[in-house]
Formats: sequence, structure tokens, C-alpha cells
Amino acid sequence: MPELPEVQTTVNGIRPYLLNKKITKCKVSVEKLRWKLQSDLSKNIINIKITDVIRRGKYIIILGKNYYLVIHLGMTGTLRIATKTDKLKKHDHFEITLNSNYILRFNDPRKFGMVFYSNICPLKSHRLLINLGPEPLEQDFNSKYLYMRSRNRNIAIKSLLMNSNVVVGVGNIYASESLFLSKIRPQKKSSTLTKRNCEDLVLSIKKVLKKAIKKGGSSINDYVNVDGKRGYFQYDFKVYGRTSKPCHICQSDILQIKINQRSSFYCKNCQK
Ligand SMILES: [Zn+2]
Repeated sequence: MPELPEVQTTVNGIRPYLLNKKITKCKVSVEKLRWKLQSDLSKNIINIKITDVIRRGKYIIILGKNYYLVIHLGMTGTLRIATKTDKLKKHDHFEITLNSNYILRFNDPRKFGMVFYSNICPLKSHRLLINLGPEPLEQDFNSKYLYMRSRNRNIAIKSLLMNSNVVVGVGNIYASESLFLSKIRPQKKSSTLTKRNCEDLVLSIKKVLKKAIKKGGSSINDYVNVDGKRGYFQYDFKVYGRTSKPCHICQSDILQIKINQRSSFYCKNCQK
């Protein structure tokens, strides 16, 4: 599943191709992804001049004047830049052609992704975006904030970190990796975190995400970088997906448990 680093990598990759370009054509070849697509989506997009491409959480927002095209990659979605001679691939569901003749294509085998437009800023109006927590790499996600949000919460710290109302974009992989780096067990009750724990955790989350973005995002399942090359961050995972393999620090077996129906990995020796 694409997580924040993959989404940021996608934005970084497509942005130069989209900026200041006009949309000349739009093709929708599916009725429904996660939800039914707006019937007037393709009609309303023509002649929009793209002024910016931004990320909020795992949402990609392509902006024009009074126009917001929102794309979520879901479980298996990818965006790639194509030219007119590049053949369509299986599961290409949506594309926009630019006046530069480049094409932005959305491919999604499992169809859990989202594409919708709005004429008002979705960050201030759309039910999925309005309550999003702070960005993990911004200053308002800090130890004081995490400490405050973890008080009186009985849930596992890993679940708290994966709640997008608390902080956006810390998915299963990076929650596991950050908890290992800060030596905190994923199942530890949020309310028992100390101020020191929160400091360590916030620093670890920022460090892990920055490193992943730098390396171009990971490619565990179906993620393909916009230029078609695969990312390689997965080779660096310390605990994620390493069940029964030796911990890099103490050589104990990495354990796998379920927390909130999601696989979680940790070292019982290094993480308390
Ligand atoms: Zn260990």
C-alpha cells in the first residue's frame, strides 16, 4: 500500500510535468473506484490550467483556479507520466492529457483509489480531509502534541499513530519502524507514554519518513515510481516483514502480532 513517502515521491515526480500546463483531454474508463466517479468529471476538467500539485496526508491535490482534482492511491494505485505512443496498461482507469502532450495516467488493479473534483478547497470542505491531523514532518507535530493526544487513550500506541485524525500518513510500515527506532513496543498503551517516549517517537517518525522520501519511497506491493523505476527503501526495514529474522541490534527473533487487525513487528528485547 502506498504510504506517505510513496505519495510524496509521486507528487515530486509528477509535479514538474503538470505545473503551468493546461489540461486538454480527460479520459475516464471506469465507473467506480472506491466510490462511483462523478459523471461530469471529464467534462469539467478541460482547459484547467494547473497551478500547483500538493500532498495532504495521502491525498494528492492538483490545483487550478477554483478547481481541485483530488487523487488517493488507495491500496494499489499508481500515477505515471506517459507519452502518446506509450500503450495503455491493464487497469489504467483515468488519464489527463496536457498541452505539452504528456499524459498523467492512474492505474489501480484493486480499485480502492479515489478521484474526485471540487470547486471549493477540499481541505476546508470535504468530509475526508477536513479533520485530518497535522503533517508528521511539520512543526505542529511535536512531542508536546503527541503527549497531549495520548493522554487518557487506552489504545495501543501503534493504533494511535495510524489514526489520521491524530497524525496523517504514518501507516503500518512506518509506524512499526518508528516504534522500533524509539524502543517502544507497538502494543504499549498510549496513556502510559512518558514525555521522553513522545520526544523519541516524534523524532523517529520524522527521521524514518524523511529517509524513505529521500530514497524514493518503497515498493513492497504494486508501487511503481512515476518514471517506472522501483523504489528500494524496503531493503532497509529493521522490523517490518521480518518475522522470525534476527533483530539487527540484539539478534533476538523479530515477533509478529496483530494490533487492530494489522500485522505488527517488534523486538521484545529492544522494545519496552
Ligand atoms: Zn532487538
